[in-house]
Amino acid sequence: MNKTVNHIDVKSPLSWDEYFMLQAMIASFRSKDPSTKVGSVFVDENNHQITMGYNGFIAGIDEKALPWGKDSSVGTENQKYGYVVHAEANAILHAKGDLSGTRCYVTLFPCNECAKLIASKKVSEVIYLSDKHQDKDHTIMAKRIFDLVGIKYRQVEVTKELISRLNEHLGAQLLEI
Ligand SMILES: [Zn+2]
Repeated sequence: MNKTVNHIDVKSPLSWDEYFMLQAMIASFRSKDPSTKVGSVFVDENNHQITMGYNGFIAGIDEKALPWGKDSSVGTENQKYGYVVHAEANAILHAKGDLSGTRCYVTLFPCNECAKLIASKKVSEVIYLSDKHQDKDHTIMAKRIFDLVGIKYRQVEVTKELISRLNEHLGAQLLEI
């Protein structure tokens, strides 16, 4: 009997970084923000997801009473910015356990307000998809905060090739129902 017959050389179709960034991207899909949808997940050292969040208005608030628009001609009070809770802040607010030493996966580099929360929670690393606001003050201040407290940050790429393999995988599962 050949005992190696069922030993098939396999490898994971995606890395943990790719897996958790996809989770953050799926979280962002839940956001009702018509312009910027951001998602975030926090993961412990055993690669278990601890909490997730996406940008939205305060939980339980009458959403229809608040503006989603960002037209600056009407003044701050009537723009979304003052009312939206960011993805990372929501994830931190709804976490049931300790977040120290966790990795934060987020689809957009955190702003300085979220950086304050992330640093206060003693998160070890921030892994982001987009850094499109890298020249803005809120991103520069966030990086200054992370540098001061020793939080590492790095960008992770999610390729179109991965998305198309995922799409194929999900489509195949639907066919099996
Ligand atoms: Zn923020």
